[in-house]
Amino acid sequence: KPSAEIPRVLPMGSSDMASQPQSDSVKVAVNVRPLITPELVLGCTDCVTVTPGEPQVQIGPHVFTYDHVYGSTGSSSSLIFEQCVYPLVDSLFCGYNTTVLAYGQTGSGKTYTMGTNYSGESNCGGIIPQVMETIFKKADAMKGDTEFLIRVSFIEIFKEEVFDLLDDPGSVAKAAAPARVPIQIRETANGSITLAGVTEAEVKSKEEMALHLARGSLSRATGSTNMNSQSSRSHAIFTISIEQKRTSSSASEKSTSNEYDILSSKFHLVDLAGSERAKRTGADGLRLKEGIHINRGLLALGNVISALGDEKKRKEGAFVPYRDSKLTRLLQDSLGGNSKTVMIACISPADSNAEETINTLKYANRARNIQNKAVINRDPVTAEMQKLRSQLEQLQSELLFSRSGSAALEELQLLQQKVSLLELKNSELYCELKEREMSCEQLAQRAIATQLEKDQLMLKLESARNGKSWDDIENAGSEQDVDLMKTYISKIQQLEAEVTRQKFTTACRNGLHDRLALDKGMLLDDLGSGCEVGTLEVSSEVDEEEKEREHSSIQEKLDMELQDLDKRLQQKEAEMKQFAKSDTSVLKQHYETKLHEMEQEKRAFQKEIEDLRHALAKLSSSTDECSHKMKDNYLQKLSMLENQVSQLKKKQDAHQQLLRQKQKSDDAAMRLQGEIQRIKSQKVQLQQKIKQESEQFRSWKAAREKEVLQLKKEGRRNEYEMHKLLALNQKQKMVLQRKTEEATMATKRLKDLLEAKKSTRDAHGK
Ligand code: ADP
Ligand code: MG
Repeated sequence: KPSAEIPRVLPMGSSDMASQPQSDSVKVAVNVRPLITPELVLGCTDCVTVTPGEPQVQIGPHVFTYDHVYGSTGSSSSLIFEQCVYPLVDSLFCGYNTTVLAYGQTGSGKTYTMGTNYSGESNCGGIIPQVMETIFKKADAMKGDTEFLIRVSFIEIFKEEVFDLLDDPGSVAKAAAPARVPIQIRETANGSITLAGVTEAEVKSKEEMALHLARGSLSRATGSTNMNSQSSRSHAIFTISIEQKRTSSSASEKSTSNEYDILSSKFHLVDLAGSERAKRTGADGLRLKEGIHINRGLLALGNVISALGDEKKRKEGAFVPYRDSKLTRLLQDSLGGNSKTVMIACISPADSNAEETINTLKYANRARNIQNKAVINRDPVTAEMQKLRSQLEQLQSELLFSRSGSAALEELQLLQQKVSLLELKNSELYCELKEREMSCEQLAQRAIATQLEKDQLMLKLESARNGKSWDDIENAGSEQDVDLMKTYISKIQQLEAEVTRQKFTTACRNGLHDRLALDKGMLLDDLGSGCEVGTLEVSSEVDEEEKEREHSSIQEKLDMELQDLDKRLQQKEAEMKQFAKSDTSVLKQHYETKLHEMEQEKRAFQKEIEDLRHALAKLSSSTDECSHKMKDNYLQKLSMLENQVSQLKKKQDAHQQLLRQKQKSDDAAMRLQGEIQRIKSQKVQLQQKIKQESEQFRSWKAAREKEVLQLKKEGRRNEYEMHKLLALNQKQKMVLQRKTEEATMATKRLKDLLEAKKSTRDAHGK
């Protein structure tokens, strides 16, 4: 089944300095070696095709996609280092752990690709020699501001035992040496895996490192199966560890937190044993057993990879069997842990190896799903230092904060200042008042004296005018008189003062009256200003009195208004009564009936006149004596009647006029009634206003009292709060002192430690 996947791009030369865990998936590259002579001899054909320009491998019906594909028609194998490994070296220098794993069946080119069989002189372009070269190039470039400590170790895992390839060089024969002592795997308290007593050789140059690699390669246990005479059936792990310490000369460029930064990172270069199944090796006996052991590591590795590669299992927190083999325990960080990892799957293109090649490709495909979380590895002591440092900073800032005082304290102080200021002002004013009073008194005394003198002089003058001699006058001013005058004068002054005071109070009263009459809003404003904390203490009593006075004057005024209204009402009602006295409706009826009667009378008369005229007309046609007489008679009667009619008409007019007048007075009464109604409602309104006003005053007074109480309470609370804050401040100071002492102790300890470390390292170097 083809399982084409989207090609992924490996970030080139990524040198991310972030110390946050980076979620990286394991990058997988496939390296297809060319057909080698033995295969060509056997007449094998190429069964692997690489899609040109795509990281895609096709074998039979299977299609696989990886991060990179090298060899065959893909990228040139010489690009493996540049594209896959160089970024790892960069990361190594940034403090990340890195790993390169070579996987594949025996004879697929793992050792060739890794360069594990380094012999010293032949630079066949394997990965490890290139890594060594790059590391030292970089270290040399950074020498100015960074101290490096580079160490290497080289181990192999053979038959589930770990052996140190750098131990006791030269004495180990080419064949498997049973005398070799296996190394124990230990787990430290923080969960990292170490090898007890493994040789970690410090190297100062590329040549030194190459020497160790060559020596280890030599001592590597190799045997021969019918697959490949040179291939190894053991896992080999070459580890380069780098410790970097930034020297102080670089402190100016780096942030101060990096001044003491010590980064330690490891590069694992792993050449795994052949992945082929035991049955295909054709070996039996001891070799088969070896094969089983070799494959135990690979089997465990496969299980780890599938446990880590399955997204569903990973999310469920499924168990990862790292402990199933020594290999997986040692590579725990490289697979799904704190490391940036690249896997290189090596395959042979020969059709005879097709089955194993497909297995390898599937295995490699699964490894792509592994998510690692790489972090920058800082020295634990440095990390502790940094922690203490930041703690110290925090405490310092805290102290600063508490020194400057919290907001509440500040407010309290402000209030206290205000209060004292106002108190001072108050006392000053009081002093001034006293002074003024005193000077007033003095002036009054002087006025009395002057008045007295004047009066005396006037008396004398009067006496002189009356013709008394000077001596008499001098003697006449008896003591009694003077005293009497004095008392009179002082009494007069007293009375004058009384008068001015009275005048003043009335003036005040009037002023207040006007002010109060303005509006309620102003009253509220006054209330508002009365609430101000600062002025309250001083002006409260004065305010209160003023308010009281205002209130009473308002009440007085309103009462007066009410009385006025009452008077007006009474007047109107009296008027109304007058109207009511002459029963107008009866009068009107009377007049109307009379009018009616007159109308009827008038009509009767008119009819009579008509009749008479008729009769007259008849008579005039007959011309005789008696009819003449009758005619005269009729005429007389007619004129009389006409007279009566005109009189009646006059009377009627007069009546009409009377009626109109009556209507007018009725209207006036109506108006009066309305007015009375209006006054009444006004009165009600006024009464309501009075009530409202007194209610307002009452509530104002209550609020005022409450406010004073509350302010007193607040003052007490503030004082208490201040005491609390002071206590807290004291406590924080003590904590800070303790922490500072702790920090200095830690610094001292660290210094001692570094000193000791350095002295031992120097001793070791010699
Ligand atoms: P493995 O370590 O996987 O068992 P080797 O690295 O020993 O395999 O390689 C087996 C043989 O194939 C060696 O003789 C090696 O020279 C040869 N070989 C491997 N890869 C290549 C390559 N890319 N080009 C030419 N020859 C290669
Ligand atoms: Mg090999």
